[in-house]
Amino acid sequence: MNRKPVIAIDGYSSTGKSSISKIIAERLGIVHMDTGALYRGITYFALQHCFSNDEIDTALLFSSLKDVVLEFKDLDGQLVLFLNGKDISKEIRQPEVSEWVSFIAKQPEVRAFLLHTQRSIAENGGVIMDGRDIGTTVLPNADYKFFLTASIEERTKRRYQELLSMGENTTETEVRDNLIKRDKIDSEREISPLKQAEDAILIDNSHINKEETIDLILSYIKK
Ligand code: C5P
Repeated sequence: MNRKPVIAIDGYSSTGKSSISKIIAERLGIVHMDTGALYRGITYFALQHCFSNDEIDTALLFSSLKDVVLEFKDLDGQLVLFLNGKDISKEIRQPEVSEWVSFIAKQPEVRAFLLHTQRSIAENGGVIMDGRDIGTTVLPNADYKFFLTASIEERTKRRYQELLSMGENTTETEVRDNLIKRDKIDSEREISPLKQAEDAILIDNSHINKEETIDLILSYIKK
């Protein structure tokens, strides 16, 4: 039997990476891993246990990482993130987590902690992983690499609609400011910055919808 492909999808916030990867995984019969959810999970933990005076105590967070167990569990075909046994899939989408996640994600201790989890999932092939540094750092030997981008207007619209549908109370301006801030921190951090891998295929989906983006990606993948 042929080994199933390892696919890396990186790109800017709210380019649809996760929802697109989820559908591609279903079509190809491979596993999907949303690595942003892992960074959000650590951020949620930090806000719960290491937050005082409007600051995250990073020293306390680093020494607490040994107590953090993040797992994806399959609930009726839906991969749901659990933190120490509790379903946190809704909590990690809260604006407060979005506000802090890029600060947490630039900490080398946090990136090292999550690297092992991410790589071990891809060991046997058959995975599509989406994030910021999958093609450059986590899976540099991936069979296929894609880098997604779209205009800030389009990305704001998409994330705003997503948050509204989840019942979150926010404004388009808040969403836009958060995307711009995260893109900046993610692109400028020292370790594993958000960057297109040299061998990644660039896809701008400002003017194509989710289904068209999926078809375009699948057109590159050998059956
Ligand atoms: O993909 P999502 O927008 O949920 O990611 C949240 C944040 O997690 C990103 O803004 C980035 O700071 C961080 N992240 C990362 N590396 C990844 C995936 C996400 O630094 N591979």
